[in-house]
Amino acid sequence: MDAKAPITQDVMTIPRKPVEGKPNLVGLTRSQLRAALIGHGTPEKQAKMRVGQIWQWIYQWGVRDFAAMTNLSKAYRAQLAETFVIETPEVVSKQVSTDGTRKYLVRIAGGHEVEVVYIPEEGRGTLCISSQVGCTLTCSFCHTGTQKLVRNLTAGEIIGQVMMARDDLEEWPVPGAPKDETRLLSNIVLMGMGEPLYNFENVRDAMKIAMDDEGISLSRRRITLSTSGVVPEIERTANEIGCQLAVSFHATTDDIRNTLVPINKRWNIEALLDALRAYPRGRNSERITFEYVMLHGVNDSDEDAQRLIRLIEGIPAKVNLIPFNEWPGAPYKRSSNNRIRAFADIIYKAGYASPIRTPRGEDILAACGQLKSATERARKSRRQIASEAGL
Ligand code: SAH
Ligand code: SF4
Repeated sequence: MDAKAPITQDVMTIPRKPVEGKPNLVGLTRSQLRAALIGHGTPEKQAKMRVGQIWQWIYQWGVRDFAAMTNLSKAYRAQLAETFVIETPEVVSKQVSTDGTRKYLVRIAGGHEVEVVYIPEEGRGTLCISSQVGCTLTCSFCHTGTQKLVRNLTAGEIIGQVMMARDDLEEWPVPGAPKDETRLLSNIVLMGMGEPLYNFENVRDAMKIAMDDEGISLSRRRITLSTSGVVPEIERTANEIGCQLAVSFHATTDDIRNTLVPINKRWNIEALLDALRAYPRGRNSERITFEYVMLHGVNDSDEDAQRLIRLIEGIPAKVNLIPFNEWPGAPYKRSSNNRIRAFADIIYKAGYASPIRTPRGEDILAACGQLKSATERARKSRRQIASEAGL
């Protein structure tokens, strides 16, 4: 690809309101919800209060049935039920790993499927959600990148994944019960299928709902968005979402990064680092996570580790080393444990935390980069994958 060629997105968009059927309230911002209510007969003077009430029912209590919204009049509840639905993506299958990781396949409008992974940990739990069906970018080590069909998820489909997981974990609060501060679903990572910054508005609106105090109420410090490096949207992420940032760095020279993360041809390492240096932090502890997949013989030498340290100098950072998760047809091998440890050690001695990500849910293909709808048939051939990886 020529260095100036834009990365095309080729993403289908679908209207929020299905052609037939009632509009879904899930995923609307507060102002969109207000407009929807007024548009269907709620008097303007009452709209603010109704938004607050309905919002709390949906996002604080997890209610899906208008009839259960007992602080609204019976007639108004009936009117809402006639007009709207409260819908989250349908769970097609759920697999539970021997390590407790849960992988859900969910179906969204148009029959597309995306994967959602819940990773339980001591005293907390992380939900890895998807932002697109497939991904237009074709990182050569990523299974999702081999899926051809792509569409952006709506804000409702994104926050719907969180609501679906809370359903499955039975984590909606019961009115009157004492507040339990240990949450099973305490963190969200946008590290599933898709490039979140190629679906900026919907991801932003969904995360605003997740952070809203009168609902799911997760702190912005518990939400991490991972990007392959869509430079112009990084500043917007800080300003309009304010969540934590992770970057799929993966290489220390433009040559290698061009083959691993092709968006590097559009925004190279220098441009990416400039954007990261400008990413504001609320607190000193808020560091940028550099994700670095360990590929045997490709990006895992001591020289790579040293170059990485030089590159990130001056950026409050931690380096998350991800042992490569293999998938059928993958053109790479995972670096050995000793190599990964030696690499981690060099980074650590330079003053950066360098945790090695423990692969979770490998037995159910739920680990990073392994997500791809099983029903997605439009697969690339091994040869095509290898040639795109420059092998
Ligand atoms: N599109 C975004 C977020 C999804 S990928 C991004 O690229 O950042 C989440 C993380 O998993 C990224 O760092 C990605 O590079 C990494 N990853 C992808 N495939 C992988 C694989 N096979 N093994 C290990 N990590 C992988
Ligand atoms: Fe897309 Fe991220 Fe996979 Fe690259 S690593 S193909 S950006 S999902």
